[in-house]
Amino acid sequence: MADLFSILKATIDLLAFRHNFREVRKIVGKKPAILPIIKADGYGHGLVPLAKESLKLGAPMLGIGTVAEGIELRHAKIASPILVIDGIFKDEAREILKHHLTPVIFSHDIALELNRIAGKAGKTVSVHLKFDTGMSRLGFLFGESGKALKKIRKLKNLHVEGVMTHLASSPDSSSPQTEIQLARFNKIIEMARNEGFNPKWIHAANSGAIINFPSSRYNMVRPGIILYGAPPCPARGVAFKQVMTVSSRLISVKNIPHGEGVGYNATYVTPRTKKVGLVVGGYAHGVNRLLSNNGFVLWKKKSLLPMLGNICMDNFMVDLSKVPTAKAGDEVILMGPQNDKVSAKGWADLTNSIPYEIFCSLGKSAKKVWK
Ligand SMILES: *Cc1c(COP(=O)(O)O)cnc(C)c1O
Repeated sequence: MADLFSILKATIDLLAFRHNFREVRKIVGKKPAILPIIKADGYGHGLVPLAKESLKLGAPMLGIGTVAEGIELRHAKIASPILVIDGIFKDEAREILKHHLTPVIFSHDIALELNRIAGKAGKTVSVHLKFDTGMSRLGFLFGESGKALKKIRKLKNLHVEGVMTHLASSPDSSSPQTEIQLARFNKIIEMARNEGFNPKWIHAANSGAIINFPSSRYNMVRPGIILYGAPPCPARGVAFKQVMTVSSRLISVKNIPHGEGVGYNATYVTPRTKKVGLVVGGYAHGVNRLLSNNGFVLWKKKSLLPMLGNICMDNFMVDLSKVPTAKAGDEVILMGPQNDKVSAKGWADLTNSIPYEIFCSLGKSAKKVWK
């Protein structure tokens, strides 16, 4: 079955991942622990292989999105602590206990239910408390955090192992929002200590904050996108390497006579007889339609071939006029670090997107090979 979806191939360069992990260590120094964020199937790079690689590199814990991903890791015999960062539903409390996952707590309802289930089982669950310091996403609101801390203090079957927040604008070093969020977070940490909590881990920094805001590092950092090699802002003195390369093959090569339309709606018309190639892989596999008449593929790692006409569901056409020896079966790189035009950043610029989305959408259906 898997091969039905193996139209695109994603080659995941684990050496580049390792390199990026070490670059993060270089930036933050010896002290803070590194909690790699591998949610959404490792940003499309593959959950289990990246989890294993991260643990080899010394990560004390793994950050994933959902309970389902946590269970997948447990089935893969991964025994390390696992933090479920995107929240849980009440009806997932049992699974949290059963698989020894560490949830983030963002509402009193969830805290109560977990405490109840844990109490019945005669167990204590480790949790991280998540505070919304100004992103309006998951977490106790800043204004309600004092009250929340008091209530959670009473729940004897929860062990508060961590306190965290998430930063909305950290790639922008000039945005005042990060300093405001960190000031609120510092206030919350103080309140938690006054309430008698002594969390082992305090964390706030995503990739942008790791690069721009040293004061956000506390004793743990949560890098995501920099581990995959697409920094969201310039990082002086460090060079991240893009981990994912997505390739496909030409399935057909033809000489199209002059004056013919190429693709749906004939948005491109051949100005002369032109050699045109058909590449397997389309918007069903994450090749965004905004690349129509706009993007490129890389042939033999050196020649950029412009995309012609509208991207189709399962395939698209490219201009082969500059590569007379190109033939059916040849490999082409759709997205990878080999050339700026086809890099995740290059695609993002052409499709009004961000590398995060490009990795996730291409990684989802591609057959992944880790090396
Ligand atoms: C996704 C995510 C991260 C990682 O963000 P990057 O910008 O990819 O570094 C860190 N923390 C939380 C809570 C997240 O959801």
